[in-house]
Amino acid sequence: MNAEPLVAILAPFDGWCTGLEEVPDPVFSGRMLGDGVAIDPVSGIVLAPCAGEVVTLPASAHAVTIRTPGGADVLVHIGIDTVELQGRGFEAQVKLGQVVGAGQELIRFDLDTVARGAKSLLTPVVVAASDGLTIRNRRAAGMINAGDVLFEIVHAREVADARDAADARNVAHAPASVQRTVTVQLRHGLHARPAALLAQAAKALAAEVSVLAHGKTANARSVTAVMALGVRHGEEVTFTASGPDADHAIQQLDAALEAALHMESAAGHATTGDRASAVSSAAAASSAAAATSGENSGGAVDGVLPGITAVAGFAVGRATRIERREIVVEEQGGGMAREGAQLEQARANVRARLTRVGATGGVTRREIAAAHVEFLDDPVVNEAAQELIAAGKSAGYAWRAATRRQVQALEALGDSRLRERADDLLDVESHVLLALMGEARPINLTIPDDAVIVADDLLPSELTALDAARLVAICLGRGGATSHVAILAAAMDVPMLVGLGTGIHAVADAAMVIVDADAGALHVAPDIAALDAAQAAVGARLKNRSAERAAALADCRSLDGTRIEIFANLGSATDAVAAVANGAEGCGLLRTEFLFLDRDTAPDEREQRDAYQAISTALGARPLVLRLMDVGGDKPLKYLPLPHEENPALGLRGVRTALARPDLLRTQLRAALRVEPFGVVQLLIPMVTDVTEIIAVRTLIEELNAELGNRPRIKLGAMIETPAAALNASVLLREVDFLSIGSNDLTQYTLAMDRGHAALAGRTDALHPAVLKLIALTANAGSEAGKSVAVCGGVAADRIAVPVLLGLGIRELSVVPAAIPAIKRQIRAVRIADCRALASRCLELGTAAEVRSLVAQTSLTFGDVS
Ligand code: PEP
Ligand code: MG
Repeated sequence: MNAEPLVAILAPFDGWCTGLEEVPDPVFSGRMLGDGVAIDPVSGIVLAPCAGEVVTLPASAHAVTIRTPGGADVLVHIGIDTVELQGRGFEAQVKLGQVVGAGQELIRFDLDTVARGAKSLLTPVVVAASDGLTIRNRRAAGMINAGDVLFEIVHAREVADARDAADARNVAHAPASVQRTVTVQLRHGLHARPAALLAQAAKALAAEVSVLAHGKTANARSVTAVMALGVRHGEEVTFTASGPDADHAIQQLDAALEAALHMESAAGHATTGDRASAVSSAAAASSAAAATSGENSGGAVDGVLPGITAVAGFAVGRATRIERREIVVEEQGGGMAREGAQLEQARANVRARLTRVGATGGVTRREIAAAHVEFLDDPVVNEAAQELIAAGKSAGYAWRAATRRQVQALEALGDSRLRERADDLLDVESHVLLALMGEARPINLTIPDDAVIVADDLLPSELTALDAARLVAICLGRGGATSHVAILAAAMDVPMLVGLGTGIHAVADAAMVIVDADAGALHVAPDIAALDAAQAAVGARLKNRSAERAAALADCRSLDGTRIEIFANLGSATDAVAAVANGAEGCGLLRTEFLFLDRDTAPDEREQRDAYQAISTALGARPLVLRLMDVGGDKPLKYLPLPHEENPALGLRGVRTALARPDLLRTQLRAALRVEPFGVVQLLIPMVTDVTEIIAVRTLIEELNAELGNRPRIKLGAMIETPAAALNASVLLREVDFLSIGSNDLTQYTLAMDRGHAALAGRTDALHPAVLKLIALTANAGSEAGKSVAVCGGVAADRIAVPVLLGLGIRELSVVPAAIPAIKRQIRAVRIADCRALASRCLELGTAAEVRSLVAQTSLTFGDVS
C-alpha cells in the first residue's frame, strides 16, 4: 500500500541519530512504547517534532508527548531514567494542553546536569499511540540537525481494518466486564515505563481494557493516555476489561504492573556516582528522600534543596531574587533600512557602555567587557543578522536568531571551554535587545548586605553588575558547574550552587538561608538555632581562610619535611597576580592559547612578547613555564586552515600543529625567548608522542637563540599527555630538562573517553588505576634521571588525588591559583610514607571509584581541607 504520509516527524535537536535498539532500556529498545528512533543530543533545547497538542508533560519535564491533528502521539523522552532527576535540570517552555507548532521550543534542559544524573542521554522519539499507524523512511544512523526529518507516520489501513473486524467479532461475544482496583506502588507512579508495560500487555489481549483514575478513563493500549492520567505513587487505579477472557486480561494488567515494580527495584535508587558535582551525602540523602516521597516538583525536602557545587564554600545570608525579564521581540521588521539602522544604533550604545565599564571596572570586569565587545562585533553574527533583516525580520529578531545560531554552533563543538563562551554571547544578546528597546542593563544592581542571589540563571554581566562586597553566595535553579558565570564566581570567591531545580522558585525573597556549597545543599527555612550555628561556622571559616592564606605564602613541606613545590596554572596576567597572592612559587603551566583563539589573525611577535612579559613581571622573579601553543584539533583557528578531521582529538593538535605551521611556532618561540630576565621562561611542548617532536622543536629554538644573540640554553620540558609519552618517559627525559603530566589529556587518551563528553563525565577520572600506573611510571623515570616531574592537569587540585600523587613520587603540582592555600595546608598535614602506602594500594584497585573511596576513608589522616 502506498499510504499518504500523515505527518513528518522532525528532529527535536541536533545530535547523533540511531536505532531504538541502542537505547539501554528494554521498554524503548523492545519498542514497547512504540516505533521511532533515538538521538544523542548535543544541545539542551527540545523543539516540537511536529505540530499538535501537548498531551503529556510531567511536572519533572523530562518527557513530552505531542498529539498530531491526525491522532498520532509522538513522545520525546529526554534520556533514560531521567524521571529520577525529579525535574532537576529540566524546564518546560510550554504547558499541558497547549497547541504548538513544529519547531517550537518545548523543554530546556541542562545537558551537564542530565548527563551526570541519567543512565543515558539517548533520547527516544517514538510514535506512542501506534495503533493503526506505522512509520516509514526512517532516518539512517548519523549526525542530524534540529528540524531534519526523522521519519514519516502513515496509516496502516490493512492493519486497522483487520483489527476492526476482529473487534467486531469479539464484541458479538462480549461477556460482562470485570474490574479490579489496585494501589500503584511505583515510586514515580504510572510514568512512561510502567505505562508502556501496561500498553504492551493490553495490546496482546483480545479483551477491551481501560484504566480509570482521577475520574478519567484511558485506553490501556495507549501509553500516552495512561501517562496523561497523572497517577502518582500510592494512588488507586481501576482496570476494566470487557470481552473474551476478561478475567485473564485483568490478571495480565496486574502482572504488567508487578513487572514494572520489579524493574524499578532492580534498577535501584542510586543516582549515577558523580565526583565532579560534589553533591554531598546530605544532598544525596535529601534527593533520595524526595525520590521516595514520589514528589516531582523538585521542592525542598526537610527544608533542604539539593544542588550541584559550582564553587565550594559556606555562607549565610538573605535570599535576593533576581528575575530576568523575558525580552519579547517582534518577528516582522519595518524595512531593511530602518531595522539595519536601529541595530547599528543599539550596538553602538552597548559598545559605549561596555567601554565605560572597561575603563572604570576592575581587571576581571575589564576583560569581560573587552570580550563582550568582541562578540558584539563578531562578523559571523553580524552578517547573519543582516541577512535576516534583509529577509524582512526585525532587528531584535534578527540579532537573537543570529546569536542563537552561534550559541548552538559553540555548544555543538563539544569543547567545554568553547561552550562556556555561549554564556557571553547570550549576555551580549540581551544587552543589544534591551538597547533596541531603549533600555540599558543596569550597571549596578542594588542588593542588600549578605545577599544570597537566588535565580533561575545568571549571566556573566549580571554577576559583575552586583556589588561584590554585599554578595555572599549564588544559588541557581539551572546553570552548569563549569559555566563562565561559575568561573567568575570562583574568581570572586563566592560559593555557588547550580541545578537546584524549580524548587528555587519557592524561596521567599529576603528570607534567611544557609548555603552549604561544600555539601551541595541550600537550607531554605533554617530555624534560629541553625542560623546561629551557621553564622558561627562562617566566622570560624573566615578565620581559617585568612590563616590559610597567610601560611600559603611560605614554602610547602609535608609533615616529615619533604619539599613539595606548588605552582599555578595561568591563562593571563590577571591570573598571575592572584597566583602570587595565593602563594604560588611560579607558573607551572601558561596556556598560551588564550592569545591565539577567537581572532582573525595570529598575534605577532611583539604582541606575544608583551603578553608573556606582563605575566613574567607579575610573577616577579619566579619561574614561568610557558606551554607552546596547543591549538588545532578541537581548538580550531580561523587563520589556521587545517583539513577536516573525522577525529580531531587524534589528529593535528598540540606540537603536531605547531610543527605543521613552523611560521607560527617560530614567532611564538622568538617572543618567548625575548622575555626578560632571560632564563625565567621555560618552554613546555604539548601533546608529545615521541622524541622526534622534541628534537624538531629544540633545533628551531637553537636556531632562533643564535639569531637573537647566542644566549644560554633555555630549559625545555615535555608534557606527558599520551600513554606513549608516559610509557617512554625515560627516553624522552634524555632530550628534555623536565616533564609535566597533563592528566586531563592523559586520562582522555588512556581511557579512550572524550574529556568533553557529557555522558562520560562521571567516568573520565584521572584516578583510574591505569592512569595512576602511567603517572607512577613517569615519576619513576624522572627520579632515575634526576629531573623533575610535575602534574599540571586538573587532578593536581583534587584533594583526594593529592596524597596519591605524592605517594607515586610527584613533588611538584601546578593548580588553579585559588586552590593553592588549601593544597599547601593539606600537604603540610601528611607524611610521605603514608602516601606511599596508600598509593601502592590504589595501584592494585580496579576502578577510579574504588580509589576515591579508599582515599576518602583515610582523608582525615591526610588533612581534610574543607
Ligand atoms: C592536560 O591535558 O592535563 C593539560 C594540562 O592541558 P589542557 O588541559 O590545556 O589540555
Ligand atoms: Mg592537554
